[in-house]
Amino acid sequence: MPKYVYDFTEGNKDLKDLLGGKGANLAEMTNLGLPVPPGFTITTEACRRYLGDGRMPDGLEGEIGERLAALEMRMGKRLGQADDPLLVSVRSGAKFSMPGMMETVLNIGLNDDSVLGLAKQSGNDRFAWDSYRRLIQMFGRTVLGIDGELFEDAMDDLKGERDDTELDAADLQRLVETFKGVVRARTGRDFPSDPREQMDLAVRAVFDSWNAPRAILYRRQERIPAGLGTAVNVVAMVFGNMGPDSGTGVAFTRDPGSGRQGVYGDYLRNAQGEDVVAGIRNTVPLQELETINPQAYRELIGIMGTLERHYRDLCDIEFTIERGTLWMLQTRVGKRTAEAAFCIATQLVDEGLIDMDEAVTRVTGDQLAHLMFPRFSATNGNRKLTTGMNASPGAAAGRAVFSSERAVELAGRGEAVILVRRETNPDDLAGMIAAHGVLTSRGGKTSHAAVVARGMGKTCVCGAEELDVDTHAGRFTAPGGVVVNEGDVISIDGGSGAVYLGEVPVTASPVAEYFEGGPAEDELVRAVDRIMTHADSVRRLAVRANADTPEDAARARRYGAEGIGLCRTEHMFLGERRRLVEDLILATTPEERQAALDALEPLQTGDFTGIFTAMRGLPVTIRLIDPPLHEFLPDLTELAVKVALAGDRAGDRDRRLLDAVKRLHEENPMLGLRGVRLGLAIPGLFAMQVRAIATAARRAGGARAEIMIPLVGAVQELEIVREEAERILAEAGVEAAIGTMIEVPRAALTAGQIAEAAEFFSFGTNDLTQMTWGFSRDDVESAFFGTYLDLGVFGVSPFESVDREGVGRLMRIAVEEGRRTRPDLKLGICGEHGGDPDSVHFCQEIGLDYVSCSPFRIPVARLEAGRAALTCAESDAR
Ligand code: PEP
Ligand code: MG
Repeated sequence: MPKYVYDFTEGNKDLKDLLGGKGANLAEMTNLGLPVPPGFTITTEACRRYLGDGRMPDGLEGEIGERLAALEMRMGKRLGQADDPLLVSVRSGAKFSMPGMMETVLNIGLNDDSVLGLAKQSGNDRFAWDSYRRLIQMFGRTVLGIDGELFEDAMDDLKGERDDTELDAADLQRLVETFKGVVRARTGRDFPSDPREQMDLAVRAVFDSWNAPRAILYRRQERIPAGLGTAVNVVAMVFGNMGPDSGTGVAFTRDPGSGRQGVYGDYLRNAQGEDVVAGIRNTVPLQELETINPQAYRELIGIMGTLERHYRDLCDIEFTIERGTLWMLQTRVGKRTAEAAFCIATQLVDEGLIDMDEAVTRVTGDQLAHLMFPRFSATNGNRKLTTGMNASPGAAAGRAVFSSERAVELAGRGEAVILVRRETNPDDLAGMIAAHGVLTSRGGKTSHAAVVARGMGKTCVCGAEELDVDTHAGRFTAPGGVVVNEGDVISIDGGSGAVYLGEVPVTASPVAEYFEGGPAEDELVRAVDRIMTHADSVRRLAVRANADTPEDAARARRYGAEGIGLCRTEHMFLGERRRLVEDLILATTPEERQAALDALEPLQTGDFTGIFTAMRGLPVTIRLIDPPLHEFLPDLTELAVKVALAGDRAGDRDRRLLDAVKRLHEENPMLGLRGVRLGLAIPGLFAMQVRAIATAARRAGGARAEIMIPLVGAVQELEIVREEAERILAEAGVEAAIGTMIEVPRAALTAGQIAEAAEFFSFGTNDLTQMTWGFSRDDVESAFFGTYLDLGVFGVSPFESVDREGVGRLMRIAVEEGRRTRPDLKLGICGEHGGDPDSVHFCQEIGLDYVSCSPFRIPVARLEAGRAALTCAESDAR
């Protein structure tokens, strides 16, 4: 039978899979000798079994009993003992942090008897009754599923105008009775007084909370696998609500917004942990603890230093001070903004804690992409309403909405919205996902809104206390009496915390400017520069661009592209040149067709010359024309109406065009006359393009042309095109590699044969995904992928990240068989996946030579290629 329960002294930080993040780190801190209240962790495996079988696994209750007995021995008191009770907290803790998504119950072990013992032992009646009412409230809500508002309403009725710290013991005792009444009325049974029953029910509730709707939604958003389950930590209670010399707080070992060193955190006197995160009362900056309790403050700062050196990273912590004594309740490597991630990584290098290799793995392509987002430009004319806390960077403008539901509704209609709340809670998650930005009037940088928004990379301003937010009326009032109603446009700056009336225009980010050749002046840009330089020095994947114009090619080069991996030539047949393509389609004799091609050739030569010149010295893969020709013809209905309306006066060309549109119409154009099929069906078309490439290559000088044939499914197709192309190149005295896209499943499956006629393969994963899944790439994402994602058919669209098991398997086959035939076969990818971080790692794993993506994704691909080189196990396909 597996071991389901681990004492904190038995675990360590590397056991996150089994003990969850919180449990593993509590064990690590225990073993570092830091002041952690004793406790134990019930494993994620126990949770998985419980959720799978619908009952507690055999042996678990016994194991919990043994651990509890050991804990009671150590503490010298029993759970819920009447005269001197041991109380415990039961806390969730999955492998990946899911802030506020699952349940926690504090003060387990209190009942009508032990509350008196606690009062006596603590000498503080108020504290004991406050703890008891908190237990019933939390237990009622999370374990018994009672609407939390019922408890809050009862408390508000009692409080009247008072703050909750002003309630005295008698008030709280009355509140306990009221709360017990709520439990009885809502569940038909009494609040359970047996401490062990309380604990067991709380453990079950934490397990169950893994599958609560908000947890499911959060996992989907953050791409956390659904099958992991959560661990449960049972921890001896320490109390931050024992009086003015007690308190609780959260802190970061450096600024999670900028990476700057210093003391960043919030402290709340005479309170328990959930009060801070919920933003119920306003916290004070952690620095004030230095005055409140200098000794605990010094100890805390010392521990923060120990943790940073030990984890070699920014940590966030939760702590409690019980009558002057400091206790550590949690630590983990802290979430941070994209900006801070880059700054911290290089700061840690400079502090000698990590090396540059590790610095590259500490940042992600998604973070880099985020930094390339625009920010607000000068806010001329926009009235600044207030300044809150700069909780998560970026700039966002949109209509103010005051509920999660409205945010979802308006966003569904394509509106940009800013979700405005007093504070957010986990039920606001859907609204936060839908909104462009989040604004709250309460709570610090560690409040729910701030933590969740940062995790999502969403702009957030929180704790804008000057705003009087009335969610029921759907408006807020800013200083000076300015009223913002639902639907009014506001703009929030997550970098400065400023809130503006109206829409503020945005400007490019300094990071984007740096990639355009701007200076590396500020700390962030210098950090990006250092990390990119190192990523480039370690990566083995080359990075190319998908670019069809000299302008795009030049931008790609500035962004660091080492060639063009896909130049789509069909874009060159649009605009004024449509007419020439029409001539080609309307041609009835070889002479007419040749005349149309002759007219196109010099234009194509000019196109290619521009691109070769922009990319001088670097490889340029030009793909011969791919889409079906009828895409270049007028719309069937429009043309039919035009001809019908003109009657006898209809022009001959229009009539012939209409015939051609009808003749070329396809039910499934994606599977029709396109790519190499077109080249074989229309004599001279590919030859014209190859001649233009050859002429341009000679003209541009230093050109390294590669000719790519699309939609090949059989080597025979490629051989025919290749023979003609080689002849033309030889006549022109130009050398160019000839290769093919691998985008039809049959091409992947017969790659060994195809490699006989191809010097390179480039995976067209857009079509390969379309044809492997049978998903129309133009339709399905908006049609039903939302449902598929909800149902968990896949965690991410296969058009976004390479589906490793299906499409990826075909790619592996093609790589292996292609290289077996031709060991020096060059391999790349040019589908949209080429700029997707996860897919870049996959390309590294299967041994590709390069990825190719749109110019704006080049920096992301360079960084991810560097990270992949440092972290991926590469197959031996090379
Ligand atoms: C592909 O199919 O992945 C590809 C790059 O070609 P296109 O998107 O032009 O069909
Ligand atoms: Mg394609």
